[in-house]
Amino acid sequence: MLSIPGPSVIPDRVLAVMQRPMPNIYEGELVDTSYSVQEDLRKIARTDQPVYITVSNGHGAWEMVISNTLSRGDKVLVLESGRFAVGWGEMAETSGVKTEILPGLDPNPVDPAAVEEHLKADISREIAAIMVVQVDTATSVRNDIPAIRAAIDAAGHPALLMVDCIASLGCELYEHDEWGVDITVAASQKGLMVPPGLGFVFPSEKALAAYESADLRSGYFDWGPRTDPDEHYKIYCGTPPIQHLWAMREALDMLFEEGLENVWARHQILADGVRAAVQAWETDDGFSFNVADPGCRSNSVTTVLTGNVDATELRRIAEHDAGLTLGIGLGEFSDRAIRIGHMGHLNPPMILGTIGTIEAALTKMGAPLGASGSAAAAAVIGSAM
Ligand SMILES: *Cc1c(COP(=O)(O)O)cnc(C)c1O
Repeated sequence: MLSIPGPSVIPDRVLAVMQRPMPNIYEGELVDTSYSVQEDLRKIARTDQPVYITVSNGHGAWEMVISNTLSRGDKVLVLESGRFAVGWGEMAETSGVKTEILPGLDPNPVDPAAVEEHLKADISREIAAIMVVQVDTATSVRNDIPAIRAAIDAAGHPALLMVDCIASLGCELYEHDEWGVDITVAASQKGLMVPPGLGFVFPSEKALAAYESADLRSGYFDWGPRTDPDEHYKIYCGTPPIQHLWAMREALDMLFEEGLENVWARHQILADGVRAAVQAWETDDGFSFNVADPGCRSNSVTTVLTGNVDATELRRIAEHDAGLTLGIGLGEFSDRAIRIGHMGHLNPPMILGTIGTIEAALTKMGAPLGASGSAAAAAVIGSAM
């Protein structure tokens, strides 16, 4: 059982459709599938705007955004809430973009009031874009994107709002158009249940206008040629990612069969189960939540601080004695945190199995435990059945 925050568990249905010979790539089923995947990805991000697809991981999609919307010397405001927005900003810097980091609240979420204040102080409107994650996969914080949009509007600032949803699209309520987001970035291997290898970029009209003057454009990522509706091969700037398109089509079918709102609700219930377990386990010298504010805990990943419990040993026992792979703590957390991924293709037996196995490993270690996390999770999930 893989319980890391991406790549997530790939459904058998998705794996099965990848086992096919190479098709005609100029016309027929593959081309039709490709157009339908584009159409339906927009429904997942809730946008009427186009989607651009990179044959890459999420980092490639980050770079597509930078190169199509920014220019050398532009300034970007990075809203810190963990590792990932900062990483995106660092990538922008390597392209000649200047970054400014607005630290998050202690410990994690972005403070919309601080965003408003910072933007109001930017009198000469130097900031071209604002980079933020909906969910930070290191800290497991969820930021309030509509509140950040409202803060930008309250400051009357024209910067583009760029949101990384790589760890949350398909897991958390998200509305690209309605929330006034200018760039949404996602990738295939987390909530979308497809192996790593596809990145998705959803622009707004304002982001498309920024493209016109962006001077960082590169040959491969350039949106321009990818927009030609009559030249299918240009969408991918070359050979389409065939296997991934079959896989994405199947995963989208699964999401629509369940219904996107139901998918979000399932993530909420399973995440509530994980949180109930962590809360039951909590002790002064043992487990605790990394994200203090319950309203800012994501539905796709939970970062658990392990106190005096050796996180590396816990992961080793879970994996080697029981076949459960847990996420490592990132950065400052390395040996004093675990991350439980709960994104994508998951149901109660998988989540309860993960929680029960962590509890078994903690019991073997003689770790301090407040109460049974398994019982607490079962109660929460049971009451939602
Ligand atoms: C996983 C992740 C990334 C990086 O994606 P890769 O596919 O590993 O390049 C970026 N941002 C967030 C929020 C993520 O969870």
